[in-house]
Amino acid sequence: GVALLALINDLLDYSKLEAGRLDIEHSPFSPQTLVQSVAELLSPKAADKGIEITAYVDSTVPAELYGDEARLRQVLINLAGNGVKFTDEGGVGIEARLVAADDGLAHVAFSVRDTGIGIPDDKQAAIFEEFSQAHIAGERKREGTGLGLAIARKIVRAMNGDITLASSPGEGSAFTFTVEL
Ligand code: ADP
Repeated sequence: GVALLALINDLLDYSKLEAGRLDIEHSPFSPQTLVQSVAELLSPKAADKGIEITAYVDSTVPAELYGDEARLRQVLINLAGNGVKFTDEGGVGIEARLVAADDGLAHVAFSVRDTGIGIPDDKQAAIFEEFSQAHIAGERKREGTGLGLAIARKIVRAMNGDITLASSPGEGSAFTFTVEL
């Protein structure tokens, strides 16, 4: 039931994004609180697996920013949730730093790194596509819809940013996205 509900929610979300019905909010929020709360939300799952989860917001990031906190949280939870899902030793780190600031716009980079199983080079581009999974065979315990990263990329692009991936199998993965706030 839980898996079906997750699938339905992802599909609804994805079709809304596909229909161009993504209204980006511009409300004040604290990036420090946001990053911290995502780490706290996932920490029970990380503790269950015996891995660490850490949060760090660089002092260059303004204490208050205007943007869509709920959508940013959705992207961070997706990336950090994947990090926890695909890491059995070590941990997951969530970070935010300021890349540039001009004309009242802050270009902020968020990165989510893990020390997990990693993603082979030839699968890296495809995982941002819909329903795409890089690890399937014999991995039933790591279920998912394959929509999370496609949704994350759409949200990030709606915030005038993009998302990139650096990963080595057996060493870990680092997803970084920048957004304009
Ligand atoms: P889901 O997690 O629901 O399968 P996603 O779109 O979030 O869908 O991820 C797609 C695929 O990308 C995953 O199934 C997995 O194979 C790969 N992947 C995503 N994040 C990671 C990660 N941190 N480490 C290893 N593989 C990952």
